[in-house]
Amino acid sequence: MMRFSRSPESERFVRSLSKAYAVFLLLALAAVPAFAIAYVHFFQDPTLHFEHHGFHEVAIGVSLLQGALIAYVTFHCYLRSKETFLYWLTLGFLGFTLVYGWHGVFTRLSDDHMMLFILFGPASRLVMAICLLIGLLSYGRDDESALELKPNSFWWAAISVFVVISIIVSLVAFSPWAIASRWLMELAAMGVMLSCAVIIVMRRINSPLMTVYAISVVFFAQSSIAFMLGTAWNHQWWLAHAIFAVGFMALSYSVIQGFLTTGSFSKVYSQAELFEQLRAEKERADDALLKLRNAHEELEVIAATDSLTSCANRRGFENSAQIEMERSKRSGAPLSFVTLDLDHFKQINDQHGHTIGDQVLIAFVGLVKKSLRPSDILGRIGGEEFAIILPDASLDDAVTMTERLRQMIEFELFTIEDRTINLTVSFGVSQFGVDGDDYDALYKVADHRMYRAKELGRNKVVSNEQS
Ligand code: GH3
Ligand code: MG
Ligand code: MG
Repeated sequence: MMRFSRSPESERFVRSLSKAYAVFLLLALAAVPAFAIAYVHFFQDPTLHFEHHGFHEVAIGVSLLQGALIAYVTFHCYLRSKETFLYWLTLGFLGFTLVYGWHGVFTRLSDDHMMLFILFGPASRLVMAICLLIGLLSYGRDDESALELKPNSFWWAAISVFVVISIIVSLVAFSPWAIASRWLMELAAMGVMLSCAVIIVMRRINSPLMTVYAISVVFFAQSSIAFMLGTAWNHQWWLAHAIFAVGFMALSYSVIQGFLTTGSFSKVYSQAELFEQLRAEKERADDALLKLRNAHEELEVIAATDSLTSCANRRGFENSAQIEMERSKRSGAPLSFVTLDLDHFKQINDQHGHTIGDQVLIAFVGLVKKSLRPSDILGRIGGEEFAIILPDASLDDAVTMTERLRQMIEFELFTIEDRTINLTVSFGVSQFGVDGDDYDALYKVADHRMYRAKELGRNKVVSNEQS
C-alpha cells in the first residue's frame, strides 16, 4: 500500500488554497444575479410582458408574511442578545414589510396610477437599506436600554413611522418629482446596500451569519440595478423581484439560525470556532473536576483527622479499624486493640494551663507515633483518650509493645515553654476474635481493662479480666 506523507508546508498550502477558493466561491455566488441581469438585458426582448395582477398580489402577500415573521423573530433575537444591530435589522424588516405592502395593495391601479404602484418598491428597499446601514454601523455594540424597552410601544412607534413614510411616498407619487424620485430612491438603495457590503469587508466581519448577510445586501443592490433596467411587468422587472426575494430569504434564514443558536448575530460561531470552544470548555471542565477531586480528597482527610494532634480522629480511626478487622478476618492474622487514657491530665491543665495541656497532647502523640510501626494506627477517641490498632499483633505482642510504650512515656520529660512535665498513661488491651468480633465489642473490652488499670493505680497495662 502506498503511503503519502503530509508535510506542514503542503498542509499550509492546501489550507491557503482552500481559503482563497472559498473567497472566490462567495464572490461568484454574490455575482450570480449580475449574470442573470445581463442575460435578460442583452438576450431578451424588453417589450415582452407578463402582466398578471393576481400572481403579483400573491407573491407580495407571501413576502409580507415572511417579512412580518422575520421582523418578529429578529426582535426576539434582539431582546435576547441586546445587540443594537438586531434592533435596526428588526426595523429594516418591519419597514420593508409595511412600505412594500402598498406595492401589492396598489397592483390593480398600475395601469392608471403607475407611479403610486411603482414607488413603493424602491421606497421599501431604501427604508430597509438605511436601517441595515445604521445597524451595521453599530455592529458589535450592545444596547443596554433593551432591558427597559416595552415591546408594544416599540412596535406601535415603529409602525407609525413607517405609515408616515408610506403617506409621504403616496404624496410624492402624485407630484411632478415622482419619476425622478423613483430613480433617486433606487440609486440610493443600491448605494446604501453596497456600502453595507463594503463596511463588512473593511471591518473584516466574517462570522458565518454576516457572510450570508453580506451576500444578501449585494443581492439587494443588484436587484435595484435590475429594477432600473426593467420596466413594470417585463422580464427584467420580474427577475429583479426574484433577486431581491433570494437575498431576503437568505437573510431571513441567517436570522433564524441566529435565533436557534445563540440568539445573536455577532456571537454565532463558525464550526471551527465551536470546536475550539468545545475543546477549551472540556479542558476547563476536566481541570475543574480534577480540582474538585483533590478538594474532596483533602476534605476526606480533614474530616478523618484530629485538628489538634493530627492523628486520626474518632471517625477516621473507626474507618481504619474496620478495614484492618476485615483484613484480619480474611487473612486470619491476629489483630490487637489498645485504649489509653492519660493519667490525671486534669491536674496538668490545672497546674500549667489549658494551652500547655494542648502542647502536651501534641507532644504525646508525636512520641507514641514514633514508637509505633508504620502499619499501626493511632486515633484520638476524645479528650485525652486514645486508641491503637495493632495489625498482625497477638495479645502477647500487643502487651509487650504497650508495656514498652508505657515505660517510654513514664520516663519521658515533656518540655514545654520551660516547663518539664511528667506523664503516665493507663492502657487496656483486647484481641480481635478472642475478646470480640466487631469494633464495639473490642473497644468495650479494652476500655473496661483500661478503667481497671486506673483502678489498680494507673500507669499500667491490663490485658485480661484477672488483673
Ligand atoms: P484520670 O483519667 O487519670 O482518671 O484523670 P483525668 O484528670 O485525666 O481524667 P478526667 O477525665 O477527669 O479529665 C480529663 C481532662 O482532660 C479534663 C479535660 O479538661 C482535659 N482535656 C480533655 N481534652 C483536652 C484538650 O483537648 N486539651 C486540654 N488541654 N485538655 C483536655
Ligand atoms: Mg485521664
Ligand atoms: Mg479521660
